[in-house]
Amino acid sequence: MKAASKTKVLKNPKTVIKINEKTALARKHCLDLCVYKIRYMAHLSKRVNAISESQTIAMARKSRELKAQGVDVISLSLGEPDFPTPTIIKETAKKAIEDNFSYYTHVSGYLELRQAICEKFKRDNGLTYMPDEIVVSTGAKQSIANAVLCLIDEGDEVIVPAPFWVSYLEILKLAGGVPVTIEASIEHDFKITAAQLEAAITPKTRLIMMSTPCNPTGSVYAKHELKALAEVVAKYPELYILSDEIYEHINFVGGHESFAQFDFIKDRVITINGVSKGFAMTGWRGGILAAPKWIAQACDKMQGQFTSATSSITQKAMHKAMELDFDTYIKPMRNAFLKRRDLVLELMKKITGFKTNVPDGAFYVYPEVSYYFGKTYGSYTINNATDLSLYLLEEAHVALVPGAAFGNDNYIRFSYATSEENLTKALSRMKTALDQLV
Ligand code: PMP
Ligand code: GLU
Repeated sequence: MKAASKTKVLKNPKTVIKINEKTALARKHCLDLCVYKIRYMAHLSKRVNAISESQTIAMARKSRELKAQGVDVISLSLGEPDFPTPTIIKETAKKAIEDNFSYYTHVSGYLELRQAICEKFKRDNGLTYMPDEIVVSTGAKQSIANAVLCLIDEGDEVIVPAPFWVSYLEILKLAGGVPVTIEASIEHDFKITAAQLEAAITPKTRLIMMSTPCNPTGSVYAKHELKALAEVVAKYPELYILSDEIYEHINFVGGHESFAQFDFIKDRVITINGVSKGFAMTGWRGGILAAPKWIAQACDKMQGQFTSATSSITQKAMHKAMELDFDTYIKPMRNAFLKRRDLVLELMKKITGFKTNVPDGAFYVYPEVSYYFGKTYGSYTINNATDLSLYLLEEAHVALVPGAAFGNDNYIRFSYATSEENLTKALSRMKTALDQLV
């Protein structure tokens, strides 16, 4: 070591200074990292250390980082519509700013907005809600967290059909709830049956959490399938359903069916909805919860201590969204998603190792990929879907989310909420990379 630096001093003393500076910087960086890690693990609450980062958000971050380095990554990881928010909604929001609608509102959202939401539920879903049964939040994610934090105590069991949306389990953990997952198989279009549900119920079960249309599988429960589940719930008076219906408008098989339509359990249903998906408003942060008054008021109290109401401008934009005509404003986006779904399913036929259902809603496909397990290419060995996602990110520059985030690491999820051109390119790159694996 000494001899080497001596030689460099003789040749060019400035280089040595630079090297020393670099070494010192590297050491400092190392030290900072150690302090960061120690503090992170030892000084942060057990609560935050017990949960994982959202895998959908983590993958989106990784692909943004690669893009910033100049890599041409196609990101199919994050589920968000690529369409602009409808102009009429944007104009309404601009006017709200001009009109100085810029003050705190009622925590649950201003009254006329909640009235408009009640009208939407009546018109679209045949559901009767009163404004004091509605809580507007900063996104369906917050609505779910509000409900879970209000209903679940330490040790309470919550039934979550798998595949499930990535944040359910982590939100449950924050509340101290115990997730009980039920496996819905690909052969059964990833839907659980009444018998499966009943078998999972114990005296400790308090809640069932599920989405229809489903993220990540795109499965849509038909009315008779929901009714069969509702009849099971009806037998257990202390059991509630959190029905996540955020993809209501992205449904390719006809009308949306809500759990709350069954009067015999409506007083035990928490309906979650919002504007992120159907109205291409992910960044506006507008969520909706509809539930019996005592639950809604508890959520209002909870939210009042965390965030208060969502942005007043977002509320005005949501108000306009609630009034929009489906055929004029939403159907064109839904139709574009349907066309993309069909394109993706067609292109996937050329990929030997993908086994999938036909997703009837949302904008995801969720293929089973275990065909590739045990295969290798160069230094890559694929043991699970996480390995495969990493391989596809590095080798095909396509970002996906491994199924581990949704309860099963034999699957990968990709979102087709991007242009047909991007989808065609992504599927072609994936095929090339996958064909290399032997
Ligand atoms: N539920 C499901 C099933 C989702 O996919 C998402 C995705 N964002 C959410 C809830 C949360 O939506 P929001 O953007 O309104 O918080
Ligand atoms: N819900 C979307 C998804 O599943 C957005 C990401 C998130 O909110 O976690 O990809």
